[in-house]
Amino acid sequence: MASSASTAAFAAVPTSDPADNRPITTKPRRKLTFSDKIEILIDRTSSKLGPILITVAFLLLSLTISCYFTVYIPFHYQWNEGEGFQGNTGYILTMVWSLYLVWGIVANYYYAVTTPPGSVLDGLAAENEGTHFQDVLMEMESFTEFPPTCKRCHLPKPERTHHCSVCKKCILKYDHHCPWIHNCVGHFNHRYFLMFLTYLTTACVYFVYMGIGPFKLLAEAEEHLATWPYQMPQALVAFSEVLACAIGLAVGGMGCWHWYLTLTAQTTLEQYNNNYIKGICKKKGDRFSNMYDFGIIGNLLDFFNIGRRGPWYTAFLPLRIPPIGNGKRFEKSGRGYVLDFGPDDEDDLV
Ligand SMILES: [Zn+2]
Ligand SMILES: [Zn+2]
Repeated sequence: MASSASTAAFAAVPTSDPADNRPITTKPRRKLTFSDKIEILIDRTSSKLGPILITVAFLLLSLTISCYFTVYIPFHYQWNEGEGFQGNTGYILTMVWSLYLVWGIVANYYYAVTTPPGSVLDGLAAENEGTHFQDVLMEMESFTEFPPTCKRCHLPKPERTHHCSVCKKCILKYDHHCPWIHNCVGHFNHRYFLMFLTYLTTACVYFVYMGIGPFKLLAEAEEHLATWPYQMPQALVAFSEVLACAIGLAVGGMGCWHWYLTLTAQTTLEQYNNNYIKGICKKKGDRFSNMYDFGIIGNLLDFFNIGRRGPWYTAFLPLRIPPIGNGKRFEKSGRGYVLDFGPDDEDDLV
């Protein structure tokens, strides 16, 4: 029995050097530390919370949109019968602008939730049904001499790819896992995520501004026990206004961060790594430059796929517009600073 156990642990495998007969040992599983267990718990909770958070987001959006169209709009604008379009310009423009914002929020949220962020097997699986490690490796070898391999799913890792411990797979141009969309933010849905944050922040600011009048009326009605002229209960209107303030601040902060990343052609993970490398460069007296950075305009054109896919205004259309490329190879500016961490240090950077 002892001998068969030792054979399993020291299985001889072919090596590149035929004369090298040294057995390769399989590493024993290391014991989980407290922080590993916490990480696993967070990942599992994040995965289970996803559908609940999407439902909560849907309910809150429905509430605020109803509040806006049944209280805020009637408070500021009324359709004047018999005055035609010219007499109702303010009402019409406000309705068009409001519906555009709603479309921007709902469509981009839907796209961010339903668009797969991109995985290493994309493209290969469609062309060849039993896609496995070898297929991926062959594809990677066509542009990388020694493709790094993921330590968790054991597939080759294209540049900018990282493993998501919630989705349990490698994601192309991985940014982060967002439980609010129950999805990773990666190469194919980063645009929708950013535009969702942008439309939502704009809508929150506008909503709070439009709610100032109704909010005052609400306070007066409460104080003087006057009649509240709208069907929506006062408590829900007050809640919507406070909610829009809080969401606007939180989502606005996150939106600013993602705009900064987009303008500088970085993902959240890369930003941390780049900052680390910047520190090393500074000590060496070198100047760091991000190899994916083509300047603000170039980065925007790339991110929104402007020029190749459509004109500039497509950036403001809440449509499903795919990004440039397959997410496995990226154009480089040639000015990038590459730091040699050695093959084993790659995963330790994040
Ligand atoms: Zn992986
Ligand atoms: Zn994920």
